[in-house]
Amino acid sequence: MNILVINAGSSSVKYQLIEMTQTKVIAKGGIERIGIEGSNLEHKPNGKDKIVIETPIADHTQAIAMVLDALTDKDHGVIKSMDEIGAVGHRVVHGSEFFSSGVIVDDKVLGQIQECAELAPLHNPASLMGIKACQKIMPGTPMVTVFDTAFHQTMPKNAYLYGLSYEAYEKFRVRKYGFHGTSHKFVAERYAEITGKKIEDLKLITCHLGNGSSVCAVDGGKSVDTSMGFTPLEGLVMGTRSGDIDPAIVPFLMNKMHMNLDETITYLNKQCGVWGLSGESSDFRDLWKASGKGIERATVALQVFCYRLKKFIGSYAAAMGGVDAIIFTAGIGENDYLVREWSVEGLQFLGAIIDKPLNEEFEHVRGNDVKLSTEDSTVDIWCIPTNEELAIAKETYALCK
Ligand code: AMP
Repeated sequence: MNILVINAGSSSVKYQLIEMTQTKVIAKGGIERIGIEGSNLEHKPNGKDKIVIETPIADHTQAIAMVLDALTDKDHGVIKSMDEIGAVGHRVVHGSEFFSSGVIVDDKVLGQIQECAELAPLHNPASLMGIKACQKIMPGTPMVTVFDTAFHQTMPKNAYLYGLSYEAYEKFRVRKYGFHGTSHKFVAERYAEITGKKIEDLKLITCHLGNGSSVCAVDGGKSVDTSMGFTPLEGLVMGTRSGDIDPAIVPFLMNKMHMNLDETITYLNKQCGVWGLSGESSDFRDLWKASGKGIERATVALQVFCYRLKKFIGSYAAAMGGVDAIIFTAGIGENDYLVREWSVEGLQFLGAIIDKPLNEEFEHVRGNDVKLSTEDSTVDIWCIPTNEELAIAKETYALCK
């Protein structure tokens, strides 16, 4: 069966068509600037040349129609007709407390995703547009939604409640939800699969380090705590997001920097993190270059990032009463050996010892799963490339095969 995975943003659609018997990507691509001047489709069929089509694309329905045209085109297509798509898996950011796993879409599910839109105003409406566009163009094909928050629904109350009035939770749903769940679940399960260990017996700390970053404590295959919270702004210092701060800083800076509330939220999401600290870039490759040139703020930004990460690793080991493996993944986790080295430096007391030469040798993991801890390390340190699209496809397949 072929599964089409759709990740719809407010002005973009990314897609992959995956053949599930061999778990092989047969085409992937994306559409950018939907409803904006300069819209285009980039389509990469497996084994054929990439094509780019630049044309006005008014809305998500037109975008999905173009994706299906590209997939079925006689020259650069990979399937003969839409009938060869068995189901569509949609990434949805927020499932609130409604969803603890992927589900087949019906009217009730659509209503619940809409209800969650208040909690993810930039993301959930875009996902709904993607789902509705697919339903319109492929009326007989089952649609599945897979939520970034779902994996974290197993967190216990003591982990997900904030120290706010209980009313904030009961009336307004203010609690820790956590994000990147599909990725944390994927690498945790992959670790168990590679090592032949039972996930029920494992205490894992998964570090998804990309432009957005989060850490997760996975005990017995279940998320028991995670660093992102009510929104993806909480937790680690990120590319441009502040991560944890004292809430009293918000009114203080609003006053000092003459910002209104919306401007302050934009500031915390887009102008802080390692970008704000360094004044250079949110990309770690640029930060290391700048640090190498002696730009101190770039070095400090990297140190702040790794120090915060180390503290989360330590606190999650405490929360679970131990840790069997620390797993790095995503753009930084899979490519930046120095971030891996710095963030476990000093964790020898936990039994976590990284093999520095090996870690450096595998600077880029590039699709391979690699063990990076020394033989005498009692805690495994691994780098396992994430694959959220494949995880979505697998969950969709399991529900529709
Ligand atoms: P992601 O959000 O998972 O796609 O990760 C994107 C981020 O990964 C970029 O912003 C970079 O900071 C980081 N990254 C990608 N490639 C490298 C690399 N070769 N070395 C260090 N960081 C990298």
